[in-house]
Amino acid sequence: MSEVFTGSFTQQEPIPEEGIEAAVAVMRSGRLHRYNTAPGELAETVLLEQEFAEQVGAKYCLAVASGGYAMSTALRAVGVKSGDRVLTNAFTLAPVPGAIAAVGAVPVFVDVTENLVIDLEDLRAKADQSDVLLLSHMRGHLADMDALMAICDAAGVGVIEDCAHTMGAAWNGVPSGTQGRVGCYSCQTYKHVNSGEGGLLVTDDPEVAARAIMLSGSYMMYEKHLAGPPKDAFETIRYETPNISGRMDNLRAAILRPQLRDLDAQCARWNERYFEIEKGLRDTPGLTVIERPEQETIVGSSIQFLLKGWQADAVGEVLARCLKRGVELKWFGGAEPVGFTSRYDSWRYVDAPVLPESDKILAGIVDMRVPLTFSLKDCALIARIIKAEVGAVYQAG
Ligand SMILES: *Cc1c(COP(=O)(O)O)cnc(C)c1O
Repeated sequence: MSEVFTGSFTQQEPIPEEGIEAAVAVMRSGRLHRYNTAPGELAETVLLEQEFAEQVGAKYCLAVASGGYAMSTALRAVGVKSGDRVLTNAFTLAPVPGAIAAVGAVPVFVDVTENLVIDLEDLRAKADQSDVLLLSHMRGHLADMDALMAICDAAGVGVIEDCAHTMGAAWNGVPSGTQGRVGCYSCQTYKHVNSGEGGLLVTDDPEVAARAIMLSGSYMMYEKHLAGPPKDAFETIRYETPNISGRMDNLRAAILRPQLRDLDAQCARWNERYFEIEKGLRDTPGLTVIERPEQETIVGSSIQFLLKGWQADAVGEVLARCLKRGVELKWFGGAEPVGFTSRYDSWRYVDAPVLPESDKILAGIVDMRVPLTFSLKDCALIARIIKAEVGAVYQAG
């Protein structure tokens, strides 16, 4: 009898009791809107922003309705206008080109490398096509951020970081999201903290912060933002910045604050699971493990490997055989978008040229979620199943 895994790939842990109690207190107060405070009261949202800014070492922080909203707000706040071109990763997920489309701009896709990061040579070659890079740290893989920032600084390209998969990660000890001009995070259920939906935006730039706060729908209440820039940053922009409501509420902030206090410990738990699976997958013929650079502090909330040069039907067979044994893998080589997985040519509102280098790599990327509800034993079992099924299909081919 072959082993079968019976756990769920989509089951996250419960919200910490402390968060549940804080959320119930907010509901009992009736003051869910961030600007609705009793005299002397600091809203949960305001405290969350202060705490997160301090945690990543950013000057300013704004809590918003989603990660996608944080990215489109960041694009608007740095001055991207309708019709502008924005550089971004060919290997990412739909909210990224979607944020660019939300401001009427046009994505210019940059190739992915075999290490699953943005291709710095292709970035250098395309850097004259735009003033802005929306850099997606897709599946938690950080490019060489020193080299990337040098290329972008030299070309006058402002960097907005999509840290949906790198909250808690770092490059050379610098928290992900603080190297570029703006960092954007998601607090959606499948990310590193869970408020159902939610997003955070950080920056050190007072004008960008002021614009983002006005954009998010602060009316003239911006002085209530303790993680916002001084009042004078709003002097002119408060008249010329439209209100595009996307605030976070106190209920979500209450749930998030204890989770952020636990973030480092949770990241360590993800990494134990990640490295357990990675260990089990090493030395599987036909399968390439993604080596992580030593400058990278990872958060292993998902794992990827490559089936390099495999035919599509053989990859499909591996996925089907693993699924039969309870292991849900995702593939980025499919012609049709499936579930959360899609690829640059799935977004047909963009007139993107074919990227043969990226196509070659995407055709071999296999991806798996690693929820914290998995035990280390589960992880070892999952790796054994993948190893056996990849081996079986590889030998038959
Ligand atoms: C989840 C995600 C986001 C943000 O998504 P929201 O659901 O809007 O919070 C951004 N980028 C990537 C790569 C994501 O997976």
